[in-house]
Amino acid sequence: MKNLPELTALLSAPKKVAVVTHFKPDADALGSSLGLAGYLAKKGHQVNVITPSDFPDFLSWMAGSEKVIALSKKSKESEIKSAEIFSHADVIFCLDFSSLNRINELGAMVRNSSAVKVMIDHHLEPEHFADYEKWDISDASTAQLVYDFIVSLGERELIDGPIANCLYAGLMTDTGGFRHNNTTAREFRVAEELTSLGANPSEVARLVYDVNSLGRLRLTGYVLNHKLTVLPEYRTAYMTLSQEELRKFDVQTGDTEGLVNYGLSIKDMQMSVLMYDRGEEIKISFRSLGSFSVNELARAHFEGGGHRNASGGSSKLSLDQTLEKFLKVLPNYKEKLINNS
Ligand code: 5GP
Ligand code: MN
Repeated sequence: MKNLPELTALLSAPKKVAVVTHFKPDADALGSSLGLAGYLAKKGHQVNVITPSDFPDFLSWMAGSEKVIALSKKSKESEIKSAEIFSHADVIFCLDFSSLNRINELGAMVRNSSAVKVMIDHHLEPEHFADYEKWDISDASTAQLVYDFIVSLGERELIDGPIANCLYAGLMTDTGGFRHNNTTAREFRVAEELTSLGANPSEVARLVYDVNSLGRLRLTGYVLNHKLTVLPEYRTAYMTLSQEELRKFDVQTGDTEGLVNYGLSIKDMQMSVLMYDRGEEIKISFRSLGSFSVNELARAHFEGGGHRNASGGSSKLSLDQTLEKFLKVLPNYKEKLINNS
């Protein structure tokens, strides 16, 4: 395992660096990646940011997003380019994920690369594939771990406004706007640091939260009106979206983000679940409060994981069958849900 002085020495001369983050990157994934990439580029490294899929449009304001190499089902070109970048890279940074299956076909490329691998992440139960790990589940966001990382390299002053905005966006969204129970004094301290380095909190909040398309807002209305089911006996709310419904509202990557939180905004709910049909699989988002671990539930039944109170998973069954499976396992968690605090 490389230590920080070795890594610092390695990065002291210009290197070929690849930064990769997880499938369907959210603001923390993309913000931490672009924030780090911005810093590394300023240091004179040759940097490429690679994502295993496209990313939501509402993140395209982030500095450097226009150069991201995003894999697409439609064309093999970016996959070929990524393979070449990984095979020639001196250093690969893996951000906001800690098991290689979260980056799909890129996982094997990273595993087989002879580059020094650095993993920076805050998800539960990591796979130890990297030469250097900066991993802490008590940190609300990967973005703040990247901030710490840059500081620990002694280069805080290289963080400029655009870099600070990328990192601030990750911190803001992974704390649910500084509302989730992962928000501690530390998160506010990093927010303060980033703001003093040039991040603009109201601007970032506007760019991330107040950019609904009319279609997305109508989708929210539709889901709340017609698709939100509450099971008071399990203190659980759930919603499902079929492919047909996703098509009807012209749902784009990122449009479903945040929907699951509405379930938890209902008084007395302890868990909220959103299932939607991506075509190749059903994607599931889980959210919970307090000590109830959706990470355990997602891991045990839906090939997923994440954090205790925010996890994701998937299913190869149909949407109806996936819901049926969920409703079947729910009684096993009844006692924990009812007594949750
Ligand atoms: P979301 O529901 O917003 O997609 O994801 C919630 C959290 O769970 C995020 O931290 C995300 O990285 C993680 N997550 C989402 N889907 C999966 C999955 O399929 N497997 C694992 N291990 N984590 C996931
Ligand atoms: Mn994150």
